[in-house]
Amino acid sequence: MRIHSTILALYFLHIGIIFAQNSHLSPKINCDTAYFHFEDYIDSMKIYETQMGKNKNLSTNDERLKLAFFIALNRYPELHRKRITLKHKAINSTMQAQPSPDFFFQRKSKRAYRIFVNNNPDLTGINYEELSFNGLVGWIGHEFAHLIDYNAMSNRELVGFIVGYVFDQRTMRKTERNADKETIKRGLGIQLLDGVAFFEKNNKVSKKYRKRKQKNYLSEAEIIVDIQRNCNH
Ligand SMILES: [Zn+2]
Repeated sequence: MRIHSTILALYFLHIGIIFAQNSHLSPKINCDTAYFHFEDYIDSMKIYETQMGKNKNLSTNDERLKLAFFIALNRYPELHRKRITLKHKAINSTMQAQPSPDFFFQRKSKRAYRIFVNNNPDLTGINYEELSFNGLVGWIGHEFAHLIDYNAMSNRELVGFIVGYVFDQRTMRKTERNADKETIKRGLGIQLLDGVAFFEKNNKVSKKYRKRKQKNYLSEAEIIVDIQRNCNH
């Protein structure tokens, strides 16, 4: 669904009024509406690597992707010490987050996670490299929201969850929509919105992928409502 620019303008006006009226927003909800630009943050990469790079394996040459990874990770302190690998793979979505396959044989505290980034745009119609840097941060933020979910589950629960996600449409829908909501709660709503707007505008997206997205994820309008809801608390 396309959002009329007037609605967006009204939304930003609304946020402005909230900030003017209430400068002490709930510490749990970050209503930061800033856009992330690669050039503004690239100098911080070394600091991010020192602060959050422990147990992280970023298997990519893409500096934009690496930086977006750390900017998004910054909003998920629970994951700062977790073992996370990021790598490219040909998958039928843009990104995918999952526990390392050997998780069942490991203690939960030692569990490792993987985030795959699609490197074959022919499978989806989307080339992640065309996403704005801001949208890329939002997209990775959504994947971290999944890791927060997995991290709360025992090994047994995680097995049950994976089975549900694969075979039950409702589980998939609930999981994806919750991940979107968590991303917004972490203050990455505008970033998520940017990523979704890119998806909606992109006419190269495969029919199948578009259908799956519309069915299981928050729409642009729902994201805006959710950002407002979070900011009003
Ligand atoms: Zn997802």
